[in-house]
Amino acid sequence: MSTDPAQLRIVTYPHAALREPAKPVGTVTDEVRAIADRMVELMFEAEGIGLAAPQVGLPLRLFVCHVPEADERSATASPVTATAHPTVYIDPVITSPEGPILPMDEGCLSLPDITGEVLRPEHVTIEATNLHGDRFTHTGEGLLARCWQHELDHLDAVLIIDKMTQLSRLKNRSAIRRLERSA
Ligand code: ZN
Repeated sequence: MSTDPAQLRIVTYPHAALREPAKPVGTVTDEVRAIADRMVELMFEAEGIGLAAPQVGLPLRLFVCHVPEADERSATASPVTATAHPTVYIDPVITSPEGPILPMDEGCLSLPDITGEVLRPEHVTIEATNLHGDRFTHTGEGLLARCWQHELDHLDAVLIIDKMTQLSRLKNRSAIRRLERSA
């Protein structure tokens, strides 16, 4: 694979890359680090809290999240509810869903003008590789746990329009059609 990270851009639905299941990254090379850096930059530019590699056209199991600390969110609490800095998750696995399955409005940088209610467990554990090539485990809840689950779905080619409640699907029907027509 040879990618110039500077050329990466966020792709929007119905771009084919969003429907291609991503492959494991394995070894964390300088190229992987450069891609992750660029993804963090693109996430900030777009004012998002998460971005997955398929959203920049790369079928790799890698995503970035940044849910900044706030009054009700902490990067040091247990479980964590925020990230102290933008965090890269390589070859992530999510386990141990706990707590109620809650609805929350979600948006997606690849689905402009669409937000809909998605049901997800409140509390999960993620295991992933960091940019140094080491595996780490975080247990989180709230918006951060939701962000992890949303981004992991991207690696499996799943979008919020596939999972949102029936009512949200109806509400977004014309916006989805507009995106499909503009492709
Ligand atoms: Zn998304």
